[in-house]
Amino acid sequence: MIKMKPHLKTLSFLTMGAILLFNSCSKNNDDVVDTEKPTVSVNYDNGFPQACSLLQRRHTYTIRARASDNVGLAAYSIDIHNNFDHHTHDNQEAECELAPIKDAVNPFLFMKNYSMENGLSQEIQQEITIPENIDTGDYHFHLSVTDVTGWQSSAYVDVKIIE
Ligand SMILES: [Zn+2]
Repeated sequence: MIKMKPHLKTLSFLTMGAILLFNSCSKNNDDVVDTEKPTVSVNYDNGFPQACSLLQRRHTYTIRARASDNVGLAAYSIDIHNNFDHHTHDNQEAECELAPIKDAVNPFLFMKNYSMENGLSQEIQQEITIPENIDTGDYHFHLSVTDVTGWQSSAYVDVKIIE
């Protein structure tokens, strides 16, 4: 039994070597670098919200957007924040007529993350209810999609929340 020990050691050393070799091989295969960002858009017939949409307080809407990626979609987030100060973002959809700049009193702020099933394309569908006691006015609807590599793409849409 004592003589088995060095033999086992050699064996495990070989196994280790094989595992290392295998790992480095499979790692090389994974090293096909993903340089493509995912895409996300509401620019199609059922996409929502479209630029300049009016959203009524107390109403529930279904967000619809198309997302795709070359490797796999990992997650998306929805963020709605006020644009009472007329700020802008990259990737913004058509500009809409804005109400005069004003101070926020009780602005609607929505931010939530959702996981995706690593598919190559998915239509995002998510219900959102606009609360009752929030400031009406100009808002940005911000949709962000992340792929399995960590690349992120965003779409910003101007919307108005009305009574
Ligand atoms: Zn904004």
